[in-house]
Amino acid sequence: MTLPKGLPVVDHHCHLSPHGEGVRAAARFRAAGGTHLFLATQNYEATVPLTLEAYERQFATTVKLAEQVHEESGVRAYPVLAPYPIDLVGASAKLGAPAALDLHRSALDLAGRWVRERKAVALGEVGRPHFEIPSEVAAVVEQAFRHALRVARESDCPVVVHSADLTPAGFLELAERAREVGLRPDRVVKHYTRSLASAEAPGHVVPSYLARRDLVREVLPTHGPWFLETDFLDDPKRPGAVLDLATVPRRASAIARDPAGGEERLYVPFVESVEKVYGWRPELSDEGAAL
Ligand SMILES: [Zn+2]
Repeated sequence: MTLPKGLPVVDHHCHLSPHGEGVRAAARFRAAGGTHLFLATQNYEATVPLTLEAYERQFATTVKLAEQVHEESGVRAYPVLAPYPIDLVGASAKLGAPAALDLHRSALDLAGRWVRERKAVALGEVGRPHFEIPSEVAAVVEQAFRHALRVARESDCPVVVHSADLTPAGFLELAERAREVGLRPDRVVKHYTRSLASAEAPGHVVPSYLARRDLVREVLPTHGPWFLETDFLDDPKRPGAVLDLATVPRRASAIARDPAGGEERLYVPFVESVEKVYGWRPELSDEGAAL
């Protein structure tokens, strides 16, 4: 490992599952030089959540996983909680769109409360499905998204947005949605950003880039804030669907080893951007473990 001493190495978006590799994946991340994970919740059960209790169970699982990761691997994991926007598709089919929207709003309120109680650091993933949906569902998706942005403003936290790939106009539209409810656009993170061009628009929405080798090289010199992520899914049925959890520390090591330099740029995604968007820095102990 050739990472600079004192540099946190942060994956800004991943998932872990109690049915998947779980803490062992975090141990691999740690072995590669990783120190901090933003751990987004996901549905851990066989069906879409249809009650608030099911969401509470889901969020509690994420928080517990984050604690286990810290205790057993030394990696600090920050929970990011929200009902997944795509849940609205399945829940609308089962409950009807109005009841599905009510449930979704209540789950967003719950996530906001957990952020205010400091059990989580952000709301996520919120937003819109990345595929075509019936217009009736699309209407409730928009209402739910607006509610999510409002809860983020009230809870004074960032939101992590799931959506299809965005054009520059799409980034501006997101900024506008946030401003409409009084949320600062620089607290809105577009997760799974896959090209630099799309994010170089004004609007101050923060891209979280998929840590593909070519993309990391391309974004490294650019002005922050921006993040790197794998969107690791920890799903044994979908190996290789996204990047492996060891990817961000491997990319960081390669940059630190590169005689052409760039090492000092790693402070942009791993320290400065976290501080700008979240308001605090990922801290390390003298031994380099996450605090
Ligand atoms: Zn995700």
